[in-house]
Amino acid sequence: MAEEQAKFLASHDSLTKSANRSMFHDQLEANIAQVGGGEAADVVIALVDLDDFKMINDSIGHDAGDAVLVTIAERLRDVIDPFDGLVARFGGDEFAVVLAPKQTDFNVTHLGQKLVDVIHQEFQFGQSVLRPACSVGIAQLSEVVGADIAALMKASDVALYSAKDAGKSRFQIFDETLRIKMGRKMELTSELPLALAKGEVRPVLQPKIDLQTGDITGFEALARWRFQGKEVPRTEFIPLAEECRLIEQVDFHIMHRAAAFIADASRSNQTPIGLSVNVSTIDLRMSDFVERVLDVLMVTGLSSSQLTLEITESVFMQNWEMARQALKALREAGVRIALDDFGTGYSSLSYVLEFPFDEIKIDRSLARDVTRIEQNRAMLVHLTRMFHDLDKTVTIEGVETWEQTQFLMDIGVHLAQGFYFAKPLELDEAMALLRGVGCSDPIVPRTG
Ligand code: C2E
Ligand code: MG
Ligand code: MG
Repeated sequence: MAEEQAKFLASHDSLTKSANRSMFHDQLEANIAQVGGGEAADVVIALVDLDDFKMINDSIGHDAGDAVLVTIAERLRDVIDPFDGLVARFGGDEFAVVLAPKQTDFNVTHLGQKLVDVIHQEFQFGQSVLRPACSVGIAQLSEVVGADIAALMKASDVALYSAKDAGKSRFQIFDETLRIKMGRKMELTSELPLALAKGEVRPVLQPKIDLQTGDITGFEALARWRFQGKEVPRTEFIPLAEECRLIEQVDFHIMHRAAAFIADASRSNQTPIGLSVNVSTIDLRMSDFVERVLDVLMVTGLSSSQLTLEITESVFMQNWEMARQALKALREAGVRIALDDFGTGYSSLSYVLEFPFDEIKIDRSLARDVTRIEQNRAMLVHLTRMFHDLDKTVTIEGVETWEQTQFLMDIGVHLAQGFYFAKPLELDEAMALLRGVGCSDPIVPRTG
């Protein structure tokens, strides 16, 4: 009995009594072999990931979280048992099921819907009634190229992320469209390091305008990548770079190139020009982040007071203590720190006070409609006054019209960026702009 129990423990998750990853793997291998040997038609697996499980843990407690996981495992077994399948828990709130291969000539759409529905049923814990939800990614061996475990797992993972992206609480079957998407992603993932080495990832610079004087005070560097003659949409390659751990390389490449350009332009214009760069939350987990930034300054000759690092609120969600130390050290070295995209995401005011930010960048979504909607006007007036009082530079992003500009000037916003003044410029265009207007000539028209 002891031996039996040891065997069970080695292959099962102790909380939910589901199979563990290694047992799932063995089962999957056996099923695939059956297909290869002509004994079965297909292999179907589904990855099941709970939506917002952390919220249950955080708001009701870990006991509730554990109870939910146990119930989910039971519900999954209820669905899968008639098909003689196996339910596994991969850890956290992630489950996987594999169906017995002889059972697979059935409707996968039904399976997906059934999994989503069964998990979404009410669940009572003490006084609380919960309605857990999950996203499901389904893959069939016959639909994946390569037809091995790795390919099948990858396909179900892609399907799962696609279900999450599409709004959660739903299932997605890996199909032709996803295959094309995945192919593109794999191509870009393998091309990105080469593109970085060849310098095909480049900064463009968007001017930041002082609204009181009309001067260009500096530029924000934004990453661009031209691949096979076409620009890769930024929404595609920044998340991809973050996912495949290339974002540090992208960010330091952009920082380095932009800093070299700005240092050079400052020398020829005989005025210090500011440079803002975006740093991903992931960058701040590098143990040598501070040294690398200081290194860029040293190599390019840009002074620390010319550099602003823009971070987003997501930094507070992960490893904030480590990030804080790094940002503090850089600030002490004279680098400015800005909070980007204020007004999106969680935007708790307490985040603004969490760190002595030098600058707050108010997101485009708040600046939009400011000339039409009274509520937006009132909010901007008060935010600007508050940040003023807290001694922070206020920058507004995405200014597109003269009416917006006039209003922002009136309420005392310091800096503005947006298509009204200039789109992000290639380096030679930025140089021409600096030569043309000089850094001290206003580019804000005083009339419409
Ligand atoms: P962000 O830092 O808030 O950058 C501002 C974005 O607004 C830029 O989009 C810019 O092109 C766009 N924009 C500027 N003025 C206007 C306007 O008047 N109207 C409209 N509709 N849009 C305007 P972009 O270049 O697509 O970048 C989007 C985001 O991607 C950035 O938001 C930033 O979070 C991220 N990003 C860009 N480059 C980098 C980078 O080198 N590293 C990292 N980590 N993130 C980057
Ligand atoms: Mg930014
Ligand atoms: Mg922004």
